[in-house]
Amino acid sequence: MNTCPDCPDESCSTCRFWAEKVSWAEDGDTIPQYTDAAIIRANGQHFIAFPLDRHTPPQHLGFGGHLWMFQMLDGRQVVTNNVMHQGTIPAWFRDRLPDNAAIAPAPIPKTRVPFGANEGLS
Ligand SMILES: [Zn+2]
Repeated sequence: MNTCPDCPDESCSTCRFWAEKVSWAEDGDTIPQYTDAAIIRANGQHFIAFPLDRHTPPQHLGFGGHLWMFQMLDGRQVVTNNVMHQGTIPAWFRDRLPDNAAIAPAPIPKTRVPFGANEGLS
């Protein structure tokens, strides 16, 4: 489907949501309020990758602090534990929001896994 099923002129809330993402793409994949975030479009999904965050408890990070790596089509790699998913890009927006990355396997963490709460105390 190449047109919105809910409105004739991209005025509905779904269209307005994705029109904002088009404006980010047209601004060189930047978000006005999050200048240090990377915009990721991979497999027709839209993500915001915030910088790696070693201080915030994982439960307060996107996807519970799961580590992601994105291989950007321009050659950069984005590795972070704080990703937000905006959803599947609707078909009628895909040509304006083409993929700019692939989801790559997350790298092996270089830091040691923390000890368990009681380990080493006996
Ligand atoms: Zn619409």
